[in-house]
Amino acid sequence: MIVLQREQTVKEQLLQAAIRRGFPEYKDELIRLQQGLLGERYVDQNWHDMQLDEPYYLLHDFQTNAHQIDTIFLCQKFLLIIEIKNIVGRIDFDEERHQFTRTLEDGTIQGFRNPLDQVRRHQRMLRRVVSDLPVLYAVVFALPKTIIGHIPQGEPVFHRSGLEFHVREHLKQYATRLSSQGLQSLARQLLQMHTIHKPQLNIDKARVRQGVLCVQCQSKMQYHYGHFKCLKCNYKDDGILLKQAMRDYCLLVDEWITNEEFRRFVGVESSDSAKYLLKKLGFQYEGERRWRRYRISCR
Ligand SMILES: [Zn+2]
Repeated sequence: MIVLQREQTVKEQLLQAAIRRGFPEYKDELIRLQQGLLGERYVDQNWHDMQLDEPYYLLHDFQTNAHQIDTIFLCQKFLLIIEIKNIVGRIDFDEERHQFTRTLEDGTIQGFRNPLDQVRRHQRMLRRVVSDLPVLYAVVFALPKTIIGHIPQGEPVFHRSGLEFHVREHLKQYATRLSSQGLQSLARQLLQMHTIHKPQLNIDKARVRQGVLCVQCQSKMQYHYGHFKCLKCNYKDDGILLKQAMRDYCLLVDEWITNEEFRRFVGVESSDSAKYLLKKLGFQYEGERRWRRYRISCR
């Protein structure tokens, strides 16, 4: 059972908003991030196909102040931390030097952060929290094209096709240590530790492109009798694009907006129209009259 879903990350939404709003320099970062997410989604599919008989919980994208764990598999016998890697080329671990390199076909060698050091750091943290279960880890390569070269002896580093075998071996090897209630309460305890961080970009907020943007031609739409309409291609917004504009504002500028700031951002002249639209968006607010400010939902 999945108790923590891997959602479209806030970071991905943030980068998409930035690109839409006049910061195309974030395109490469978005592509890299999406490649990473693709690998994680491939591995998630393996869990789905496993059809294990044992009760278990999956926590994807588990985050605390200092840790970000791709997946935690939790069952009555053990806890397994999974670090997912999407790297093309040949990868090699050098345990002595704590070095992790990738060699491309043309011979270029690049160094990366050693995933074994990463998972061991997560392991140390979780061992302090989980005293009743063995805390195990594995580094899983999501792309079949990766060539796994030298790895330190006995370390669980493998392709995602090996995940099921690895998990079933552990299930055979370890005895049951937790009751189903114990398992449930441990899952709850971990969920309480989970925190969501709002990532930020170092951008000049004054340069954020304003307006409700047309989905077809990216022009700034005009407000006309209760709706936003594109004067260039005639596209009429049914409310979705206004919501997207507010989400972009929330991600790039501020979670709070006043009537005046709203008017300036979406290009509405009348304060009553702005009030009507803000009410329709259903935002929570605080303060009265000209001090009222609305809280935008970033999701
Ligand atoms: Zn248009």
